[in-house]
Amino acid sequence: MFLLAALLTFQLEKISDGVYAAIRTNAPGLGADATSVFIINDDDVVVVDTTGSLAGAREELAALRKLTSKPVRTVINTHWHFDHVTGNQIYRDAFPNAEIISSSATRADMAAKGASSRADMAKSLPQFISDLKGFLDKKQNFTGEAINDEERASYESDVAQAEGVVAEAKDVRVTLPTTTFDESMTLHRGARTIELLRLGRGHTSGDIVVWLPDEKIAITGDLVVWPVPLMGSDQSYIGDWSASLEKLRALQPRTIIPGHGHVMHDDAYVATLIRLTRSLQEQAAAAVARGETLDVARKSVKLDEFRDAIAGDDRLLRFIFRVYVANAGFAAAYRGAQAF
Ligand SMILES: [Zn+2]
Repeated sequence: MFLLAALLTFQLEKISDGVYAAIRTNAPGLGADATSVFIINDDDVVVVDTTGSLAGAREELAALRKLTSKPVRTVINTHWHFDHVTGNQIYRDAFPNAEIISSSATRADMAAKGASSRADMAKSLPQFISDLKGFLDKKQNFTGEAINDEERASYESDVAQAEGVVAEAKDVRVTLPTTTFDESMTLHRGARTIELLRLGRGHTSGDIVVWLPDEKIAITGDLVVWPVPLMGSDQSYIGDWSASLEKLRALQPRTIIPGHGHVMHDDAYVATLIRLTRSLQEQAAAAVARGETLDVARKSVKLDEFRDAIAGDDRLLRFIFRVYVANAGFAAAYRGAQAF
């Protein structure tokens, strides 16, 4: 119970009039819960992403209730991953008429893979939990060094999050979007304009950015994740990612709310991600052109500049970078270059 309570903490940050980001405060780790955003309009509320747990969504809805009594009429999913959509059913139950909106690719992915990926996760998590607990007991990190405070907090947070997912597994229903679009869609809610933009593939095939043109706020889903970008070996599109981020940058956002991590007020981090994804793509394409297998190609990949810019000398962040960028991200780039 103590760990679960620790898992559920988030910080509600006011971004602009009526715009609040619920930013999860769990330690960075291999697992990380996603940010939700509340957009409170003249007559209603739009919620962007619903977190990775039913408990987390209930807790956020309670926080929203303290801000306003206006009904949630619209839920937006930036992509199909569980940490962004699990709470859909909490909003559906509380507001049966609410629309859930995503790109058509996201809805298709959620319909095809939402239930099975959840089942796979519930099956593999007990082993992950016991491995992490083993490292904590031995006071060691994943690579066998003496664990430091940051790593301990990270592993404990991952254990808590994983235990929450396992405990809720029987109660979760895949709750699909009810409205979809391909390229873009505009919501007019009282005086507020909310644009849903599919700028291109990146983290997944269906990524969208929620753009408030008057406030110049971009809610990016996992096209932008801080402190370390999340890439999936068989789900991310590295070759398209930099172009999608260039389009994001061209909007000239004043505020960027990433899928995970703190709010940004300039595009320096996005610029780093553009260079990183382009470099991954170029190195993978060159390796494929040389006829190298993925294993051979891995040996010559150079990402030190980006690892240092993103993770500094923080041992935990360097590990997360290796898992999600150097390993999964490069594999995704290689797969994309092969298909090209
Ligand atoms: Zn995410």
